[in-house]
Amino acid sequence: MLSPVIKQQGALVVEDNALQRASTVRALRRVGITTLHEAENGIAALTVIDRLLVPPAIVVLDLDMPGMDGIELVQQLAANNYRPAIIIASNADTILISAVETIVSELKMPLLGSTKKPLLDTFLIEALSCFDQGLHQQCETVLERVVLTPEHLQHALTHGEIQAHYQPKIAVHNSTLAGVEALARWHSDRWGSIIPARFIPLAEQFGLINQLTLCIIDTVLADMRNWRQSGIDLPVSINLSARSLADPDFLEQMLARIEAAAIRPQSIVFEITESTLFSDTITSLVAVSRLRLKGFGVSLDDYGTGFSSVQQLSKIPFTELKIDRSFVSGAPYKEHLRTILQSSIEMGKRLGLRTVAEGVETLAELRLLQKLHCDEIQGYLFARPMPSSDLKDWFNHDQGCVRDICRQGTAN
Ligand code: C2E
Ligand code: CA
Ligand code: CA
Repeated sequence: MLSPVIKQQGALVVEDNALQRASTVRALRRVGITTLHEAENGIAALTVIDRLLVPPAIVVLDLDMPGMDGIELVQQLAANNYRPAIIIASNADTILISAVETIVSELKMPLLGSTKKPLLDTFLIEALSCFDQGLHQQCETVLERVVLTPEHLQHALTHGEIQAHYQPKIAVHNSTLAGVEALARWHSDRWGSIIPARFIPLAEQFGLINQLTLCIIDTVLADMRNWRQSGIDLPVSINLSARSLADPDFLEQMLARIEAAAIRPQSIVFEITESTLFSDTITSLVAVSRLRLKGFGVSLDDYGTGFSSVQQLSKIPFTELKIDRSFVSGAPYKEHLRTILQSSIEMGKRLGLRTVAEGVETLAELRLLQKLHCDEIQGYLFARPMPSSDLKDWFNHDQGCVRDICRQGTAN
């Protein structure tokens, strides 16, 4: 069903080719949008928007246009603090389209989809169905206007508002639960649920990251003991900031807590983001080696985002390579992503590392990862991060679905 916001505010088609423009307008009308505006380039689009009392909810955007192109237009719109949902309709090559998708999301505009021209009704229906989700993301921007301070975060830490949610990791070879990743969540009485992107950088900047990590570790250790009493013995991955890793006092405190909880180091994997790790190779080398000596696993997280060289990778004793979501999402249809994904998995295997792909959302992505023999996968296709209590239910009742999903992957 078409969102009432789209019905009311309509769409703007920005396209220099008159025939293509008319064809897009017809397609939009067929899927139920009646309020439609047209512009032949970015400059004309700005004029149209300026004249309207209610700005369009959606902008269908061609990229290559004389006068003002699509990239400049989205920048201008964001500069005017107007962030419509965007559909990219362009015959440019896939790498260029991916780059524009990144620009659109960096500008905090909801991206409904990208397609070659002409627009198909099936594509449009699917893209428009994402509209409400995009609005939901925009609601976050209300919170974004609230300036979160280190005092807010400190208060949250001392009042138990920071908790761990858990997302299952699935072993590809036998479709079973291989472990879970602990992800921090801030449940604020005032603002509701706040995502890590809002408070982890704040914690890093104001020296609260060690306290936050220790808080997550305490929660994880308590949950692991609790699961164990119910007969669930699961490895847990914990995100560690490179800043914490460089602090020997923090490492001692963390190790002491794990030892006191009588949890085996073999059931914990520390994930460290690639982009922050190699700024000081020797410190990273010391910390990762110490964790390995104690028996913990160490994963290189967000692999592919940090430009690390193979030489650096082979020097640091990781146990796992976690390939960033940006190389998984859309890989079945985008050759350049598929190439990076495949070579990352091959390289990880050659270095003797367990390979994990994150952000798996579709059966096509699952199928590709099964074909490439990736060891483990994680993503919304199987489960979103959930509270500890829900994980128990998921383990007991929903785990069977994983096998069905994986079977669907291999069946096609
Ligand atoms: P990350 O370590 O790369 O975690 C994976 C993120 O991807 C999580 O976001 C997860 O909810 C999300 N995700 C999982 N599957 C899918 C999927 O299929 N599609 C999409 N679109 N997203 C998926 P989240 O929980 O918002 O965490 C964001 C980042 O915040 C994490 O990225 C991690 O870098 C950081 N973070 C989270 N918890 C902690 C923590 O306790 N300590 C530290 N230092 N960083 C943390
Ligand atoms: Ca992670
Ligand atoms: Ca990651």
